[in-house]
Amino acid sequence: MLTHTDIKKLTGLTLGEGESRPVQIKGWVRTKRGNKQVAFIAVNDGSCVASIQVVADLNAPAFPEDLMKRITTGACLCVDGRLVPSMGKGQTVEIQADKIEVLGEADPETYPLQKKGHSLEFLREIAHLRPRTNTFGAVLRLRHEMAYALHTFYHERGFYYLHTPLITASDCEGAGEMFQVTTLPLEQLPMKDGKIDYSKDFFGRQASLTVSGQLEGELGAMALSKIYTFGPTFRAENSNTPRHLAEFWMNEPEMAFYEIEDNMDLAEEFLKYLTAYALEHCGDDLRFLNDMYDKELINRLESVQNTRFERLTYTQAVDILKSSGAKFEFKVDWGVDLQSEHERYLVERHFKRPVILTDYPKDIKAFYMKQNDDGKTVRGMDVLFPQIGEIIGGSQREENLDKLQRRIQELHIPDKDMWWYLDTRRFGSAPHSGFGLGFERLLLFITGMTNIRDVIPFPRYPQNAEF
Ligand code: ATP
Ligand code: MN
Repeated sequence: MLTHTDIKKLTGLTLGEGESRPVQIKGWVRTKRGNKQVAFIAVNDGSCVASIQVVADLNAPAFPEDLMKRITTGACLCVDGRLVPSMGKGQTVEIQADKIEVLGEADPETYPLQKKGHSLEFLREIAHLRPRTNTFGAVLRLRHEMAYALHTFYHERGFYYLHTPLITASDCEGAGEMFQVTTLPLEQLPMKDGKIDYSKDFFGRQASLTVSGQLEGELGAMALSKIYTFGPTFRAENSNTPRHLAEFWMNEPEMAFYEIEDNMDLAEEFLKYLTAYALEHCGDDLRFLNDMYDKELINRLESVQNTRFERLTYTQAVDILKSSGAKFEFKVDWGVDLQSEHERYLVERHFKRPVILTDYPKDIKAFYMKQNDDGKTVRGMDVLFPQIGEIIGGSQREENLDKLQRRIQELHIPDKDMWWYLDTRRFGSAPHSGFGLGFERLLLFITGMTNIRDVIPFPRYPQNAEF
């Protein structure tokens, strides 16, 4: 009995002339061609971007016509045969089939991926089948590799993976609109004094899906020193842009005793590590995406890895943008939140390298950022990348209880909901910092895809949650 082998283990092997070895593979037919004598079947099992060529001698009794008819694009096969050196172009080995079993047929009349070269927009409408394309195979393998590299990076540096809750009762982040979680009967809500009575709800209070694990992450950092979170994050904002999803994955490291400079150093080292990891371990998938979609992809990855990120303040950036003479859709002035067109101008046109902006006006940033002595700015930092704009947002946190409470009052955040967060400042407070990386923004950069809906297996966005 042969046991089945991942195709990844076979493609790229070199055998001596006349050498052969018994193999069994299983996978999905990408193409079938040939003539009356012989059939060439390309089979892919998703273990790598390459398909393997299966050769069937149609004169052999093992391959009658009724069997061959069932072998169509999309069908799933189990092939027993011999791995032999290949005469064909673009491959070192192929399989001479002895036996082919059709595990699952795919009717050519109705199989949606019958033809090659579908648009990414069309593939989004068949997100349940698009992992079977070379493009999504490459993207999904890269997604896995980047998640693995992310854990490795932190683990090697003594960070602990902290699991923060997805259901939360605090809306103090202000990061965006939240999805509410409730078991109350929506057609007959319990009321009290003209308001919905949330004491009758599942958690005895109003609850939502998290927009960030940071506040809980800070609790972890103030005990374990260095932690990171990595999990689903939800924003009910109108995410009809190529850079926003309603459900995305965020990675948030949080470090006690780190000041803003340490935070920037970590973010820069982290992004370079991930980029280097992709270049070193995912060459085949990157070359495929480079050739198919974006001829600059690998160059761009290499250039980020080898370059120092430019660091400047928000105020300096606004001066550059104002004196640039460039036409922007949104006007720049000190105090406005920068748009992605401004961020990309700085990165792609002005500095031609990744940029880290710091010291933002306090009014456009969250309440927890450390206040500078000027009374106007806070120690926030955004990392801006080519093609993407903001890929990371972070800050040094305000560790002073009085200053933090004053800011909470200014912003009318109900501090009865904040007592547990403020306790970190009451008991053993310390300087600390952290940031959030949008995992799909990273993947846009790594894969060269231009729409965030194409770097997550099952994207969630307005009017879309079918599969
Ligand atoms: P943006 O201005 O692009 O909406 P943000 O300021 O709302 O970003 P943060 O709250 O700082 O973002 O979140 C941290 C990171 O999470 C961002 O740098 C980005 O990479 C990612 N991110 C934020 N919102 C989304 C979203 N809706 N979909 C995917 N990634 C997101
Ligand atoms: Mn946002």
